[in-house]
Amino acid sequence: MNTPHGYDEIIKAFGNPTDPAHPTKVNPAWEQANIKLIKPPAGWQLYYQDDAGLVKISGIRIHVLLADSFTAVLTEIWEHAKAQLPANATTAQIQQWLHAKRVDQTGGGYNYRPNTSNPKVLSMHCWGIAIDWDPDHNPRGTAATTLEPWWYQIWANHGWSNGQHFHTPDPMHVQFATGA
Ligand SMILES: [Zn+2]
Repeated sequence: MNTPHGYDEIIKAFGNPTDPAHPTKVNPAWEQANIKLIKPPAGWQLYYQDDAGLVKISGIRIHVLLADSFTAVLTEIWEHAKAQLPANATTAQIQQWLHAKRVDQTGGGYNYRPNTSNPKVLSMHCWGIAIDWDPDHNPRGTAATTLEPWWYQIWANHGWSNGQHFHTPDPMHVQFATGA
């Protein structure tokens, strides 16, 4: 699947999430058909960064058409971690390596809400085609990021861009779309 560019291509690829009868709300039928809880590949333990701390989660809700891409990215991140460790590294050690870099911690995927920078348009999270990672340390509005170049590169290898270059930088944010 090619990365869509601009709202027309995004809607063509992923459908229109908005309820025609209620322009500020999601179309429940669209949500039910397209948004699924996607589990990470074997070995991974993902966490949600709640206000109260880290909460173990079984997966992230995103657009079902991105399930394979999400799995491929997390598989490649896992392999990268494995390659940094001794050959006999255990699953627990790989998990620890990922956890120390907080690349196993999310602020969520699908979320029907306006774009934070421009409330007139929808956020990519409305389509379930954006995911926030380690928002506690990579808040919107900061140019600095604790997420490392190799990590952004793996997402980019699979067609996902990130919010570092946005007018208001959003380093936590990766999305399967450009021009929006
Ligand atoms: Zn985001």
